[in-house]
Amino acid sequence: MRMKCKYAGCESETYQEEDYCILHMDLPPKGDHLELIKKLKEEEVEKKIQDGDLNFKGARFYDVNFSGLHIPGDLVLTQAVVENDFHCLDSEVDGGIWFDQGRVGGHAFFESSLIRGSISFYKGKVGGNISFDHARVDKYVWFEGVDVDGEASFNHCYLGGSISFNKSRIDENVSFYGSTIEGNAWFEDAYLGGSTWFDLAEIRGALCFRGTRFKYIKSQERACRSAKILWEKLGDRGKADYHFYREMEAKRKQKGYLSRYLELIVQYPFGYGVRPFRLILTFIGIMIAFALFYWMAEGILNVDVFLDKLRFSFLTMLIPAYGAINAKTGLYGWLTILEAFIGAFTWPTFMVIFARKYMR
Ligand SMILES: [Zn+2]
Repeated sequence: MRMKCKYAGCESETYQEEDYCILHMDLPPKGDHLELIKKLKEEEVEKKIQDGDLNFKGARFYDVNFSGLHIPGDLVLTQAVVENDFHCLDSEVDGGIWFDQGRVGGHAFFESSLIRGSISFYKGKVGGNISFDHARVDKYVWFEGVDVDGEASFNHCYLGGSISFNKSRIDENVSFYGSTIEGNAWFEDAYLGGSTWFDLAEIRGALCFRGTRFKYIKSQERACRSAKILWEKLGDRGKADYHFYREMEAKRKQKGYLSRYLELIVQYPFGYGVRPFRLILTFIGIMIAFALFYWMAEGILNVDVFLDKLRFSFLTMLIPAYGAINAKTGLYGWLTILEAFIGAFTWPTFMVIFARKYMR
């Protein structure tokens, strides 16, 4: 007597003495038996497509070839496992492709396909490349939390909605050469291990790299510059500033040994002119540090004297020549000159940043 497949929701009969049906059963080890099972699985897929049944949830395949097909609805591949390559070239899918938590051991190809809905590959894994070259996806491309061991290429494609690679890892290049993205492109908290090519795409919405890690510093510079330009166009100064900061940080890291470290002063205390609160903290920190020097140099360590030194330190930083006129000679005098010099840079910078950020 035949039994029902143990995969939840599957109504098919088991394959011989197995616990699962032909689609849900694991592939056997290499050998003649593997060839037979591969063939039976392929026939089952063909039969299901002919019957208009596009639910392959949790199925296990050796390889998949959905190329050149017209799929009249949603293609469901949730939690499906493909040991080798996944092909869906030159196909027309009237609905979406749902491949959440799916696994592809080899490459995943969607080249030149037309997908009228969305494609979702949430928390999926691909052992090779994913390619959407010359494809068209009318709605969303949802690749959050995805692990890609190879490249992600979206060259010459048209994406009608937004695309998200948030929290994903792509080990090699990411390219959008000659593509159009009608919505936004998100790469927040993602890891990009190769070169990036975003400046060659037409992105109508925003491009975001908040918290994104780049293996190559040049990629960070290029990607963040593209994002900065788009946010400026959208009028979001805060997000444009964030990407400007990361672009400048990337540029600094590519400089020669000396300027790379000297410029740290511009990056951290001054925040490349886009971090007013960081600058205010720097200002207060320097003011207190100098007040402490003067306090200790005086030798009279009580609170009133400290407050007096703090006031002196503040005025020295704020008013050019204040310290030089009022202070003594010797080391004390040189310290006030140094403080006045730092103050001469810090205070005007703060005013410029403040005005730029909060005033029109
Ligand atoms: Zn089954």
